[in-house]
Amino acid sequence: MVVQQLQRTRIGHIQVTRIHEDELRASPGFPDGVTIETFDRYRDSIPPSWHDGTGVPMLAMSGFVLSDGETNILVDTCNGEWAVAGFPAPRASPFLEQLRLAGYAPEDIHVVVNTHLHFDHVGCNTHAGPDGAPVATFPNAEYLFAREEWESATEHAAHGHVVFGRVDRAVTPLLDSGRGRLVERDHRITDAVSLVPTPGHTAGHVSVGIITDGGEGLVTGDMAHHPIQLFEPDLLALFEEDSAEAARTRARLVERLVQRDSLVLGTHFAGTGVGRMERVPGGFRYIEVC
Ligand SMILES: [Zn+2]
Repeated sequence: MVVQQLQRTRIGHIQVTRIHEDELRASPGFPDGVTIETFDRYRDSIPPSWHDGTGVPMLAMSGFVLSDGETNILVDTCNGEWAVAGFPAPRASPFLEQLRLAGYAPEDIHVVVNTHLHFDHVGCNTHAGPDGAPVATFPNAEYLFAREEWESATEHAAHGHVVFGRVDRAVTPLLDSGRGRLVERDHRITDAVSLVPTPGHTAGHVSVGIITDGGEGLVTGDMAHHPIQLFEPDLLALFEEDSAEAARTRARLVERLVQRDSLVLGTHFAGTGVGRMERVPGGFRYIEVC
């Protein structure tokens, strides 16, 4: 079980809490082509937590709760415990325990949104009920899925693409039962929280934007798998559906993050997973916060 210090910050009237499931060394060379030299190029501009000291990138699994005091929105639900064909049996997931430690019972979540439908983002949407059938983990929540993502994911799943290997247990049952709803990729959830289209990693991928009078933030999803991709948008991650579009999306989003002094809430980012991009002579600097 991963015990992490509670990571919580505020963006205006929105309280942001990172819910941590896991942190691990990525396969060497992930994102594609990353070496110790890549990290060394930015040595003075990035935190040491981004690799293991030898150039192997570190990768976290996390979700975020965005709360305005009335509506608690959970963005991404990590791996959970549904098996995926062709992958080792998942370890016990501490995700729900971490959520509880952060002060949220499953009943307290009002909205669940998945940035995309890869298996490591939807796992705790449901769990096995007494008869083994999927049951909604968050009984009072409405689950939101981007329509384009659902349409594309179900097609991929039908062709046996394993990265969509939990859609049948963690997404479809929610739509069938009426708990889930398909929305557009710029859907506004509350006055401050909206979906932001970030296609490339998957066809209907969304990030989640926070805009308040007191600042802005963006939950990345897999728009950037590893924060080094904010420095080098052309670095590819695993399972990228449209590499060129993913790179364009990253380049565009980095500009937005810097211009708006937005907090970056990194779904797979190691360390605190929360930071800011700042322009410095010759490039950018990433400042880790909370
Ligand atoms: Zn992912």
